[in-house]
Amino acid sequence: MISYDLKCKEGHRFEAVLPSMFSDNPDCACGAGTSRIPSRVNTSGMASAGPSRDEMPNTWRGTHSGDKDFVRSWHKKMVKREKLEEKYPELAGDRRPVLAHEGAFEAAPVRAGDALATQMAKETFGSTAKAETKKPKKP
Ligand SMILES: [Zn+2]
Repeated sequence: MISYDLKCKEGHRFEAVLPSMFSDNPDCACGAGTSRIPSRVNTSGMASAGPSRDEMPNTWRGTHSGDKDFVRSWHKKMVKREKLEEKYPELAGDRRPVLAHEGAFEAAPVRAGDALATQMAKETFGSTAKAETKKPKKP
C-alpha cells in the first residue's frame, strides 16, 4: 500500500492509499479525473545541534554590553551544546588550543613543540613513571 497525493482537474487535493504504483488513480469526489502530485516535504521536527562554540559571542560588544537576557540565553544554549558534545564528541571539534590554557595549564600554557602527552600525564597523575614503563602489547 502506497500513499499518494492527488489533484483533480478542478484543483481539489487529497490523499489516497493505493495497492501499488501501477494502480489507477481514483476519481475525485467531484467526479473529475485525478493526477499524482509530488508529496510535500516535511521540514518540521528536524534535529538541530544548535549553535556551536565558534558562534558564541566572545567580545563585550558581542554580548550586547553584557545584556543579562542575551548572556543567559547563550548560557542556556551552550549548556545544551555541552551535553550534546559529551554524547557526541565529534561535534566538539578540536579543543586543544583551549585546553592548553585551562586547568593545570592556566599558569604555564602548553606551547607548540612541548611534549604534550608527557606534560599532560605529569599534570594529571603527578608522575609519568607508569606511562613511560608501559610497553605496547605485541600481537
Ligand atoms: Zn475534484
